[in-house]
Amino acid sequence: MTAERKQSLALFLATLDDLLGSGYASKREYSFSKDPSSSDPPAQPVQEQKEQEPVALHAALKKPVPPDSLHRIINEVYICTACPLHKTRISGVPGEGVEHPVVLVVGEGPGAQEDKTGRPFVGPAGQLLDKMLSSIDLSREKQCFITNIVKCRPPLNRDPQLEEMEACMPFFSRQLALLKPKLILSLGRIATQWLLQTNETITKLHGQWKDYKGIPFLPTYHPSALLHNEMWKRPAWEDLKILRAKLQEYTDQKPELSKQKEPEV
Ligand code: SF4
Repeated sequence: MTAERKQSLALFLATLDDLLGSGYASKREYSFSKDPSSSDPPAQPVQEQKEQEPVALHAALKKPVPPDSLHRIINEVYICTACPLHKTRISGVPGEGVEHPVVLVVGEGPGAQEDKTGRPFVGPAGQLLDKMLSSIDLSREKQCFITNIVKCRPPLNRDPQLEEMEACMPFFSRQLALLKPKLILSLGRIATQWLLQTNETITKLHGQWKDYKGIPFLPTYHPSALLHNEMWKRPAWEDLKILRAKLQEYTDQKPELSKQKEPEV
């Protein structure tokens, strides 16, 4: 089955779940085959099922299709098998934050801690990201939503492959449409190059405002890169100041710049 077919199937199951209110999407053990050792009573005669089926189907089809939601995306990510990354994940990592963020923060993919917890950016790089955001008065609890291009961890933290990013991209696009962020902050080379569809290096792209589907888009270094290379600490801080200056256009209260501190890297 192709990646697109698998995603379509996941979307269909989640929609069916919303329509019937059965919690189907979260019941992974659901099976179409009957266990021969089961003591369940035998299925109804075929004739009776045929008489009931159109009524139930008709009732379900009469209900309006519910609009897309962040909750539905979460359920779909957890059961998604659209690319090979599902085989090695412990948990999908859909993303977290506020529903209408000022800033959508996007990295390339979850790491080991994220895979274990199902939450984005909770390892050492995530702690640094929280510090960076905090240094310009942002947090995932109040103004940000944090996610990745691929929602499942690539084995051994390798770069996500193009086919994996392609398969997972509908989730990001749907999140973007629902969240409607004012700004996007992309972390690192992979996410930046993928979203901008460019081969330019992050060294060249960081700190320059770009446009992503009409939304101001600022690339910067990935926090894990900052943990490994002191050299990028200063330019990353300069990028945050550029983000902070732009944020002032969206807030009535201008931050008191003199109180801002450079994050410890
Ligand atoms: S990485 Fe994305 S497309 Fe691949 S299995 Fe996970 S959720 Fe599905």
